[in-house]
Amino acid sequence: MTDLEVHQLPVLSDNYVYLVRDPRTEACAAVDPAVAEPVLQALDRLGWKLTHIFCTHHHSDHIGGNLEVKQATGCTIVGAGADAGRIPGIDVEVGNGDHVELGDKKARVFEVPGHTSGHVAYWFEDSQALFCGDTLFSLGCGRLFEGSAEQMWESLSRLRGLPGETRVFCAHEYTNSNADFALSIDPDNPALKKRADEVLALREAGKPSVPSTLADEWAANPFLRADAPDLQRAAGMEGRDAVEVFTEIRRRKDRF
Ligand code: ZN
Ligand code: FE
Repeated sequence: MTDLEVHQLPVLSDNYVYLVRDPRTEACAAVDPAVAEPVLQALDRLGWKLTHIFCTHHHSDHIGGNLEVKQATGCTIVGAGADAGRIPGIDVEVGNGDHVELGDKKARVFEVPGHTSGHVAYWFEDSQALFCGDTLFSLGCGRLFEGSAEQMWESLSRLRGLPGETRVFCAHEYTNSNADFALSIDPDNPALKKRADEVLALREAGKPSVPSTLADEWAANPFLRADAPDLQRAAGMEGRDAVEVFTEIRRRKDRF
């Protein structure tokens, strides 16, 4: 099977829009088109014709380009049914466990509340690609604007359960500052130190630090490790409940 093509488009100050294409059928989706013009220009440059928009959540730095891109391309907009009222131009409402088709490729939808109440992620299992918006970042996670820490921990735990080779296409380039915070919690974690060095080198060379893999995140992202004994020890919360530890780490990050 031909593989899914992913074009990573940096927009605004630190957002990524992903153009995702099934080369056989030429079906093509924009994940979280924050702004229209750069997306339309990139499509032009690549010679790709947009058929879909996949929305992860309702924030303006994700859906800002929806209507203009839809008007220009006639694409179909897919988003969370639970948040239909906040996703401009939504045509197809999806929820937990649904599959969305992109030509021959299929993505499974996960409801991952926490950052917003209606946040969803799209997982292309066969292509080992996860589009997780502002739920999971490299070395971090999204702020809790509409959900509880318990919900976010559950959402992250669900994503954590996917295969380690899964590429994590998150929606922001926050990795460097996330690394600084992660090191403040877990300073002796060798995987984290290595990843922080790699990320710094990538950013200094003008390259994205995204995608990482889930295996990278398992080893180094403190928000996926709230139940790991060594992380708990480093955070001074040995033997505590994972949700409690997650809540405390998230609170420290908000004040960092
Ligand atoms: Zn957001
Ligand atoms: Fe965002």
